[in-house]
Amino acid sequence: MIYLDYQATTPLAPEAREAMLPWLSGPEAMGFANPHSPHRPGRTAAAAIDLAREQVATLLPTGGQVVFTGSATEALNLAILGRRPSQIAVSTIEHAAVLDAAAASGAGVRMIEVGSDGLVPKDTTIPAGTDLVAVMQVNNEIGTIQPVAELARAAHDAGALFLCDAVQGAGKLAPSEGADLIALSAHKLCGPKGIGALWIRDGVELAPLIHGGGQEGGLRSGTLSPALCAGFGAAAVLAKARMEEDAAHVAELWKSARRIFAGWQLNGNEASRWLGNLNLRLDGLDVARLMSDLRDLAFSAGSACASGSGRPSHVLRAIGLTDRQAKSSIRIGFGRYTRPGDLEDACARIVAAAAAQGV
Ligand code: PLP
Repeated sequence: MIYLDYQATTPLAPEAREAMLPWLSGPEAMGFANPHSPHRPGRTAAAAIDLAREQVATLLPTGGQVVFTGSATEALNLAILGRRPSQIAVSTIEHAAVLDAAAASGAGVRMIEVGSDGLVPKDTTIPAGTDLVAVMQVNNEIGTIQPVAELARAAHDAGALFLCDAVQGAGKLAPSEGADLIALSAHKLCGPKGIGALWIRDGVELAPLIHGGGQEGGLRSGTLSPALCAGFGAAAVLAKARMEEDAAHVAELWKSARRIFAGWQLNGNEASRWLGNLNLRLDGLDVARLMSDLRDLAFSAGSACASGSGRPSHVLRAIGLTDRQAKSSIRIGFGRYTRPGDLEDACARIVAAAAAQGV
């Protein structure tokens, strides 16, 4: 099996796994202690969480606090519903966690259009009266990198706060400068599943969604998992240390994959893009048949959330593709642990299987 679905999730880094193990140990080692208990094992676990919080913060701007959540989806819901906005503006290519939380918030929702290149224009103006603007750093389906600093400025000029879903960018790119709220997910940066974080700029007030024991400064009640926090922290440290190396590796992989897919159309801008996301289309391609012909290749027909629904991707529709074009698109996602030979073999087999369809 060759794994080519890095936008859906990433392999757990061995360093992150190592960091988790002490907190998953048996009864004698006391790694299981509740980090919110005042006794010594509890305080030891709490110290591990404090360290992990500092480690995750190295991927974020200064001047704010990191609140751990169960996922980025939860972090985005906390950011949107916790602000209780009356008017929110979101780009048309946001993840469902943003689109659905905005719809559920009861606020008026304005859509910010993207161009056919998959980019929100830098000079987008935000209407006065908007409370919150949400634009992601890197799109999960087509990989386009949004002009977040300019859009944060436009939001502030209109008197709004700026929320950035940095799930696909954190650990790969510099932090989203100018944002007031930033959501992250550990499992997209080679950390464990089941933990995310919301970074909150100092002075930004939020109401909690989950009530109870008052953990995370009262913003997110519930016992934290030291193992998940430690894994997230270790993955963040590693991503930060390897940022240039990982980007260079991905750029090399991109070059060879693009050569093999000569003649296929790239969905989304090439220049402002995370190169570990190759979203391509070939008119007339039967993607379901392709996937069934190549069951030992784990690639995607779109975003993991949308695939299986039978509906064409809202992102591909937003960049102007017809339903047919959207349905003849595939996403190949690669990253730190992808071996060049594996990627080349997989791409060559995809091209051959498409050719066998006569398209
Ligand atoms: N935002 C983006 C851009 C994503 O790609 C994802 C995951 O698919 C999420 C949010 C949700 O992250 P999580 O799986 O941590 O809830």
